[in-house]
Amino acid sequence: MEEPREKFDVVVVGSGNAALCAALSAREAGASVLVVEKAPEEWRGGNSFFTGGILRFTFRGIDDIKSLIPDLSEEELRSIEVEPYSEDQFYNDMLRITEYLTDADLALTLIRQSFPTMQWLRDKGVRWTLAFGRQAFLVKGKFRFWGGLIVEAVGGGPGLVGALFERAAKDGIEIRYGSKATRLLLSRDGRITGIEIRGAQGFYEIDTSAIVLASGGFEANAEWRCRYLGKDWELAKVRGTPYNTGDGIKMALDIGAQPFGHWSSCHAVAWDLNAPPFGDRKVGELFQKHSYPLGIVVNIKGERFLDEGADFRNYTYAEYGRRILTQPQRAAFQIFDSKVLPLLRDEYRIREVTKAEASTIEELAMKLEIDVEGLVRTVREFNAAVEPGEFNPAILDGKRTKGISPPKTNWALPIDAPPFVGFAVTTGITFTFGGLRISSSGEILDTENRPIPGLYGAGELVGGLFYFNYPGASGLMAGAVFGRLSGREAAGYATLHLEHSEK
Ligand SMILES: Cc1cc2nc3c(=O)[nH]c(=O)nc-3n(C[C@H](O)[C@H](O)[C@H](O)COP(=O)(O)OP(=O)(O)OC[C@H]3O[C@@H](n4cnc5c(N)ncnc54)[C@H](O)[C@@H]3O)c2cc1C
Repeated sequence: MEEPREKFDVVVVGSGNAALCAALSAREAGASVLVVEKAPEEWRGGNSFFTGGILRFTFRGIDDIKSLIPDLSEEELRSIEVEPYSEDQFYNDMLRITEYLTDADLALTLIRQSFPTMQWLRDKGVRWTLAFGRQAFLVKGKFRFWGGLIVEAVGGGPGLVGALFERAAKDGIEIRYGSKATRLLLSRDGRITGIEIRGAQGFYEIDTSAIVLASGGFEANAEWRCRYLGKDWELAKVRGTPYNTGDGIKMALDIGAQPFGHWSSCHAVAWDLNAPPFGDRKVGELFQKHSYPLGIVVNIKGERFLDEGADFRNYTYAEYGRRILTQPQRAAFQIFDSKVLPLLRDEYRIREVTKAEASTIEELAMKLEIDVEGLVRTVREFNAAVEPGEFNPAILDGKRTKGISPPKTNWALPIDAPPFVGFAVTTGITFTFGGLRISSSGEILDTENRPIPGLYGAGELVGGLFYFNYPGASGLMAGAVFGRLSGREAAGYATLHLEHSEK
């Protein structure tokens, strides 16, 4: 006799931040929940594990921050200067950064739900702390936070997902590793009825009326990268998990879901030239090199090709990483002098770094195998173009160059104090921007804009939020907001469905 098929109210696909938020939220709403994760357990947590655990959310001032970090000491409070980050600021950032293309309903949901979701995450056991190391500069005795970001999870990405896994275990949520979702099962009238999984013993099916897809973008799929992002993208290094190959997007498209958003674009950063092809769970995000606003960036010919100081790092890094791929040999070099070395982020001091140090620019160029004349000329012209003014890395200081192209619009200091240090980087892809269309409560829509009954989505596989560029730390926040919403909606739908089928 055939064994009865397993049945869950809600099945969540993936075990990153978005998936775990969906699972916890569905459980909170009373649903029985199964999480299926394609990766083995030692790779659990997806890209979310690799993050610094920093999230973008709105706050009205220090009291909101204190509610997230109740154990802030008096000393910490005295040492910081906190400016609010309003809904309008967040929305303006989303509009400006995405060339006004972000979907207004999705963006406003993300923004309005950001602070309540931070509180919800705290209630689920995530511990928050101030992001001194990444988002603050010491100015006149006070830490000043910049770029709208102030809080990160204790323990970074591993700490964030670790807390969510712990809570999932406490809430009795089963997580099945090495279990790849392969197909969505539908009734004749187009409702979700189940899911096909490939586990260690082969394919099997599970009955469910509600599925939350949270299985990431297609950044780890070289063929899709080439197909959608374009020439040479198959050569980019992948910053995080090798398991985000667009499976959830494909399964949903196969049953009529609507493709949405900026399919030919992605988030990518300057990433160590010699980093491995996929993420390394020990090094995590530290192959990134984010302090370029403090120096200059050149290609192998020694030529600058972008405005290092166009804006705060959070608003340029995701786009600038992509530009490196178009440079000869897909390489770039960040050049600093001794004046700014103490300001470089921690990631510049790891053992696994491709760098050179020299007492002259010629010697530095030789060590980095950059065209010597090119670099010497670039540095000479750059230094001559630097305008006077006060350098302040915590604000857009307007200290700029004049008469060179591209300009450096802020934080332009001459590169004239040895030792000179250079770091070799290439393009590291973080996640893709194109994906599925969801409603503001997480329902996946079909090509006629109707919800596919029982199908929900969250996280990287959602299209329509980010175009061209991305305001740093919105990814985890979007995953948490839409994960929480879609989990709750999926549980509600499953309950209704159950009541209906029992009548
Ligand atoms: C190095 C790095 C640093 C980052 N830093 C930050 C940061 O500080 N702040 C921020 O906001 N964002 C950051 N990001 C972006 C952030 O990681 C993503 O926006 C977010 O984590 C995506 O969450 P997710 O849950 O959608 O996907 P993921 O966390 O990637 O989870 C997707 C999961 O789905 C699984 N999966 C895939 N296919 C299947 C299938 N067929 N069946 C079952 N499971 C499947 C995968 O194995 C994976 O575990 C960073 C990303 C990287 C790579």
